[in-house]
Amino acid sequence: MPKTVLVTGASRGIGAACAEIFAENGYNVIINYNNSEEKAEALAKKTGGLAYKCDVSDPSAVGKMVEDIIEKYGKIDVLVNNAGISVTGVFDLVPDEDAKRLFDINVFGTLNCSKKVLPYMLKRKYGKIINISSMWGQTGASCEVHYSAAKAAVIGFTKALAKEVGASGINVNCVAPGMIMTDMTSCYTDEEINDIKEEIPLGRCGDPRDIAETVFFLASGGSSFITGQVIGVNGGMVI
Ligand code: NAP
Repeated sequence: MPKTVLVTGASRGIGAACAEIFAENGYNVIINYNNSEEKAEALAKKTGGLAYKCDVSDPSAVGKMVEDIIEKYGKIDVLVNNAGISVTGVFDLVPDEDAKRLFDINVFGTLNCSKKVLPYMLKRKYGKIINISSMWGQTGASCEVHYSAAKAAVIGFTKALAKEVGASGINVNCVAPGMIMTDMTSCYTDEEINDIKEEIPLGRCGDPRDIAETVFFLASGGSSFITGQVIGVNGGMVI
C-alpha cells in the first residue's frame, strides 16, 4: 500500500519540490495550498497528487483537511510543515497585523497541522513529521526579527514534540534551509545574490530540490534513529 504525505504550502518553491520527490517515490501526495490554485492543480496533474486548498493558520480548516485525507487514503505517514511567509523590516516598524499573520502561518500553521495529524499517527505508532525552519531561526537575522523568532519557535517545537512522541514511534525533525531560490527570495537583486554567494562556502544558492532531498531522507527508513534534530541545508553559510 503506498504511503501518504501531506506537504503544506506545496503550490510553489520548496513545498512543490517536496511534493515532486515524494511522488517520484510512489507516495500519495497531498499538495496543500492557500492562494495559488492554478499552480497547485498543475502540480497535482503532473504528480498524480491531490491539490487541497486550506489556510494552515485556521485550525478548523486544517481539521477538515486532515479528516478528508484520512477518509480518502486511510492514513498520513508523513507530514511536511512547509507553508510559510516572510516579513522583513526594521523590528519596531513592522505592523502588528503583519507580525501576527507571520506567527499564525509559520508557527500556528505548523502546530495546527501537527495537532490534527498526530492522533492518526499515534494510533498506528508510526509517523514522520518534518518541519521547515530557517538558518535565521538558528542564528537570527537583522531586519527579519519576527521571521527569525517564528523559525526559532519551529525548532523548539520540533525538539519538544520529538521527546513527547518518540516512544510512540513518531520521528519529528526539522530542516533549516539557507538561501534557496524561490519566490520568497526573488526580491533580491543579482548584485545582492552575488554578495550572498560569497558568504556561502559551497559557492552557490540552494535549489528547492536541495531541501526536498533532505526532507525525503528524513521521511525514509534510513533516518529511523534520527529525531529532534535540526539539519542545516545551507551550503555551509551557517556552521
Ligand atoms: P514560497 O515560494 O513563497 O512558497 C510559500 C508556500 O507557502 C506557497 O506554496 C504558499 O501557498 C504557501 N502558503 C503561504 N501561506 C499559506 C497558508 N496560510 N496556508 C497554506 N499555505 C500557505 O516560499 P519557499 O521559499 O518555498 O518557502 C517554503 C518554506 O521554507 C517556508 O516555511 C520558508 O519560511 C522556508 N524557508 C525558505 C527559505 C528560502 O530561502 N526560500 C529559506 C529558509 C526557510 P499559496 O501560494 O497557495 O498561498
